[in-house]
Amino acid sequence: MWHLLANNSTIIQAISALASALLTIVLVVVTIRYVTLTHQMVTLADKQFRAGVQPQLSVKLDWAAQGEKRIGFFRFKNVGPNSFMISRASFSWYCAHSEQTLVRPREFPLLRSRVLPPGQATSQRFEVDPLSAELHEDHEGDCNWIFRTDVQIEDLAGTVRHEYSYDEALGLSYVRDYGAFTWWSAMRGRWHNRWMWARYKLKVWRRALQERIADIDGYPPKGRREV
Ligand SMILES: [Zn+2]
Repeated sequence: MWHLLANNSTIIQAISALASALLTIVLVVVTIRYVTLTHQMVTLADKQFRAGVQPQLSVKLDWAAQGEKRIGFFRFKNVGPNSFMISRASFSWYCAHSEQTLVRPREFPLLRSRVLPPGQATSQRFEVDPLSAELHEDHEGDCNWIFRTDVQIEDLAGTVRHEYSYDEALGLSYVRDYGAFTWWSAMRGRWHNRWMWARYKLKVWRRALQERIADIDGYPPKGRREV
């Protein structure tokens, strides 16, 4: 027996090497499977937890016109089972008939760090002249002012920041906020506003110039006008 083994030592070595390799492969496969399943379980638990503490908000808006002014109330209500905190809220508006309206959002200072327990609501009053918008492009007919609000909410577990926006015409939408507000995004916003403002000025200036040119007698030349 010993003789036989000694004679075939090379074969035995090969077999044991193969067995060890196979065992390693099996172990690797089992480990990968285990890690994947654990990851899935953790992800699922995390999702369930987030769904459990997800803030649920409802927004209502009422406003009335008083001369040029618009006076109204935004009503924010917690319609979920958990308390949440409004970290900040602001409102703005736009004219549905204007190609572009630009309004610096007005903040509701009383809604900073306001906690809303389940079932509770808070109302915020506003009073603005919509034509105080930073940019409003001329159009024919009356203005159709649409008010909107942006609300940032944190669940009290502090898992994630949520953003809701409510638009009188479009209703409520939910924006989950992934990225933090950085100096870069702030600067980009500022430069975008400046760019829009410059474009608007240029448009107004060009229109005025065209009207002036049209006023000059005999321009454009008659022959060309009839074409
Ligand atoms: Zn308008």
